Amino acid sequence: MILVSSCLVGLKVRYNGTHSLNNKIRKLIEDNKAIAVCPELLGGFSTPREPAEIIGGDGEDVLNSKAKVIEISGKDVTKLYIKGAYETLKQAIEVGATIVVLKEYSPSCGSSMIYNGEFKSKKIIGNGVTTALLKRNGIQVISEELFSDNIH
Ligand code: SF4
Repeated sequence: MILVSSCLVGLKVRYNGTHSLNNKIRKLIEDNKAIAVCPELLGGFSTPREPAEIIGGDGEDVLNSKAKVIEISGKDVTKLYIKGAYETLKQAIEVGATIVVLKEYSPSCGSSMIYNGEFKSKKIIGNGVTTALLKRNGIQVISEELFSDNIH
């Protein structure tokens, strides 16, 4: 089974109430090969919500208590991001996920690049919080960009 980001299958769960539909990934759901999950909703957020970025590092650093996830208004939401990561890990284990395809650039789901914490659309290399926890537990995580490039 494959676990995928809910926004990639067309669910309007992003912070601003939009989706990030990727037709190849939605097809996985239609073919019963994938299950959709949104770490931020699992962490306790609702939609819409404030945009958030990782300040002081990436998801690995958040898990190591060396960085924080902060909303644009300044609220520290690190605990909710970590909760969402653990809930997603639980689901990945429950469904026996062999691969997880998550939305690039998200502070939860990014797997190559994330925003740098300045809320200026600047990206840095790094993992989101959920991706970091999944990888730490030996689960392969790729972005929708890599998935679309490699699976036809
Ligand atoms: S990127 Fe991840 S956390 Fe953000 S809306 Fe999509 S599934 Fe949810």
